[in-house]
Amino acid sequence: MTVYIVNAYDIMTRTILPVKLHEQMTVTVDDIRIDGMGIVNITPTYPVYIADAIPGEKIILEVTQVDKFSGYAKVIEYLETSDKRQNSQRQYLIDAGTAPLVNLKYEAQLELKRAQINRLFQAQKLNVAVDTTIGMENPTYYRNKTIVPVKWQDGHLTSGFYRRGSHELVPMTDYFVNDQAIDQAIVKVRDILEKYQITAFDPDSQQGAIRYIMIRRGYYSKELMVVLVSNDEIIAHEDAIVADICVQLPELKSLIFNFSPKKDFVLLSPNNRTLWGEKTIHDTLLGYNFIIGPNSFYQVNPKMTEILYDLAAKKAKLKATDIVIDAYSGIGTIGITVANRVKKVLGVEVVPGAVADAQLNMRANHVENAEYILADAPEQFKKWQDAQLKPDVVFVDPPRRGLTSELISATVNMAPDRIVYISCNPVTLARDAAEIIQQGYDIDGAVLPVDQFPQTSHVESITVFKRKH
Ligand code: SAH
Repeated sequence: MTVYIVNAYDIMTRTILPVKLHEQMTVTVDDIRIDGMGIVNITPTYPVYIADAIPGEKIILEVTQVDKFSGYAKVIEYLETSDKRQNSQRQYLIDAGTAPLVNLKYEAQLELKRAQINRLFQAQKLNVAVDTTIGMENPTYYRNKTIVPVKWQDGHLTSGFYRRGSHELVPMTDYFVNDQAIDQAIVKVRDILEKYQITAFDPDSQQGAIRYIMIRRGYYSKELMVVLVSNDEIIAHEDAIVADICVQLPELKSLIFNFSPKKDFVLLSPNNRTLWGEKTIHDTLLGYNFIIGPNSFYQVNPKMTEILYDLAAKKAKLKATDIVIDAYSGIGTIGITVANRVKKVLGVEVVPGAVADAQLNMRANHVENAEYILADAPEQFKKWQDAQLKPDVVFVDPPRRGLTSELISATVNMAPDRIVYISCNPVTLARDAAEIIQQGYDIDGAVLPVDQFPQTSHVESITVFKRKH
């Protein structure tokens, strides 16, 4: 009998991976991952991911990272390019990761999003139709909010983005997806802070004041909010800075100082001080007024949000006698825009500030038949179920992790005729859809993707479920 002594070193060296670091090879790109990375299947079980590589393209790649089950590579040369490619002249957005699909023609971006939903539903063995993604007429400069880091570099206060995995701030002034007035405001505010030699937070030393400049701008109202997010509690030359910003930004409605020490907060803290003007700005959505504070969640693509909510309400086939639940309600946008078509709206949301905003927004729009409850949605659904609530329509607009089984069972037990699922993550949507269908619902019509985030890999969609009778 032969005894093999295998040690860990042997196992490692014997695991033969199909690629080697720095190896170059000529390949054809097989597929595209939803984040925009091209996929080359080196073997059926070993993919390599490549930025800016489109299916069908023939490229020479160089392997840059070898992991156990997959690798990464970069393009050395394009031998044949796809007719879906466009030269955006904006390679920096791919490096930054802020607009990873920018080199893909917009129609191809829309089709990628449709196909992704389709594939995920098929994987759940659900045979559903997915409509063509509704896109923007002009899929650029659409965001109503941005937050950018600043850093002193080479004697200048620089705004831009951190190169992935580094502390190097790459300057950027044209973000391509922000309202252009926002991009201009960032530069103006940054230059004023530079003029007064305000320190900026440095990720290496963990010292310095300003971490981010955040800007929000009302799409219809044009009202501008500037938030200085600071690691220090006070800002030097405050009065002079405020005066300069007011002169430079005539649209300014609200100037806020957000004290957000790095060790406690990822981005903004709840700690706001109004330096000038109002605490909030306003904007309208489908003709309704909404109050937007520095910490409020507000959809970033106003034009497409109107299309999304309008279609969701139409697909819900609302009736004047309906009791409607608006779950994961944020500041009440969905419920408030449908309230005048139904009997009653019940909203549930877990962030206290958002619920407070929803209540203000109700009043601002003279909505009297809505109620916004501060609670965890699955827990509140259980309470509603126990109280024998019988809603007709349930809207759900959950975060990326989707619904819980508890929420789905409580919904099914309350037996609404229609469930309207607005999803920002098709992975959890398809998973939840399987569960909802299994518990006695059918998908009514087709799943409808609406492109809220052109140039990026995010996929938003509406699915309506109808109760089987
Ligand atoms: N419908 C709103 C918000 C959608 S975003 C709009 O379109 O503006 C998802 C919302 O779900 C966020 O406001 C988030 O705070 C909320 N949320 C997250 N987890 C929750 C939970 N467990 N219970 C209730 N709300 C939750």
